Amino acid sequence: MSGDHDELPVAARVRRLEERLVEAGLATDEEFDEILEGVYASASPVNGARMVARAWTDPGYRTRLLADANAAAAELGFGDGVHGYLLKAVENTPDVHNMIVCTLCSCYPTSLLGPSPSWYKSFAYRSRAVREPRAVLAEFGVELPDSTEVRVWDANSETRYIVLPLPADGADEMDEDELVSLVTRNGLIGTAIR
Ligand code: FE
Repeated sequence: MSGDHDELPVAARVRRLEERLVEAGLATDEEFDEILEGVYASASPVNGARMVARAWTDPGYRTRLLADANAAAAELGFGDGVHGYLLKAVENTPDVHNMIVCTLCSCYPTSLLGPSPSWYKSFAYRSRAVREPRAVLAEFGVELPDSTEVRVWDANSETRYIVLPLPADGADEMDEDELVSLVTRNGLIGTAIR
């Protein structure tokens, strides 16, 4: 199975593909740079965490986030990254814990959560998250009371999700930057409490 191409590092294979597209007149180097800089260079879970921290401290923003997450992302300057799909924010409560998966592949709001972890793309996660979400959560160290309902959201290319975790104890006393630092990528996926 391993021809020349497969032995090159991924970055070199990507570059070769880019060069072929440029040679064929299908794209320019400037266009590739623009895409990478515009969307991926700034892709970080800190962006999603900032939306969460704002929702925790500003009830109006929380309402707007739950009503129209694309607009709420744009409000904080993250609009470019969430073009082309419907973004939905799902809110954890004491009675409901949300987690996200793409059972088909790995759809995920990259600009707000950063590059997706390899486990998110694994067949094991994609199949087990829907079949036995509590067992998967336990493996991530998330133990929920039996009374908490677990809702699993299956993302696809048209609709993607971000979890709004429960605020931390003492959140009232913290400023937005402190709150941002409490929120992890896994919290935004729902495989951590926050
Ligand atoms: Fe997918």
